[in-house]
Amino acid sequence: ARKFFVGGNWKCNGTSEEVKKIVSILNDGKVASADVVDVVVSPPFVFLPLVKSSLRPEFHVAAQNCWVKKGGAYTGEISAEMLVNLDVPWVILGHSERRLLLSESNEFVGDKVAYALSKGLKVIACVGETLEQRESGATMDVVAAQTKAIAERISDWTNVVVAYEPVWAIGTGKVATPAQAQEVHSELRKWLQTNVSAEVAASTRIIYGGSVSGANCKELAAQPDVDGFLVGGASLKPEFVDIINAAT
Ligand code: 13P
Repeated sequence: ARKFFVGGNWKCNGTSEEVKKIVSILNDGKVASADVVDVVVSPPFVFLPLVKSSLRPEFHVAAQNCWVKKGGAYTGEISAEMLVNLDVPWVILGHSERRLLLSESNEFVGDKVAYALSKGLKVIACVGETLEQRESGATMDVVAAQTKAIAERISDWTNVVVAYEPVWAIGTGKVATPAQAQEVHSELRKWLQTNVSAEVAASTRIIYGGSVSGANCKELAAQPDVDGFLVGGASLKPEFVDIINAAT
């Protein structure tokens, strides 16, 4: 069975005071045991040490990005080596905000995933279609192309979680219906089965992101191929605790 996984993507939000407040809400929350759910929160880079040192030990941290290769003369970038050096175990790569606002291509994201894994990081790899792509019937082609660019560059999927985040659902309050999420998750798993292996398809967690809330998480979590969530807005609020407990 795939262990439920809940990630909180704080994006580019927060002051150190606000970060301390969120951490204390998480630390006080009554949550399911770490045996049944992996919880990973992803603050902006500058708050990683603060969060890591104050967060309850069974929760882990993720960076929201890292550079595509070894560090060096890349002004403004943070390398995978630096994350490893600070004992940051996870990194989110290929988020649609970076793909779309910063023009990260499928190939570039694939290279980043491969490099981060090679340095020992665990990766939350994001895929998902825009509204225009969905309406033109291209959802699975888009998601498959994004996944293929990763699959071509890695051989071990043990440390990969795939996050399906339809762009039209992100920050819009327009959550995918449980059936819409299940459909893409199931197709994605079939894609992995055909193009990678049955074992990888069966064991890789595919989590959903896009307007997940305390109110809609249970129904989504009940879908057979929804193995958890990547949460934006609601991960900054007390309801994140309810989302952590969605599968229990
Ligand atoms: P929202 O939960 O705010 O829609 O954001 C989802 C997301 O982008 C998580 O990475």
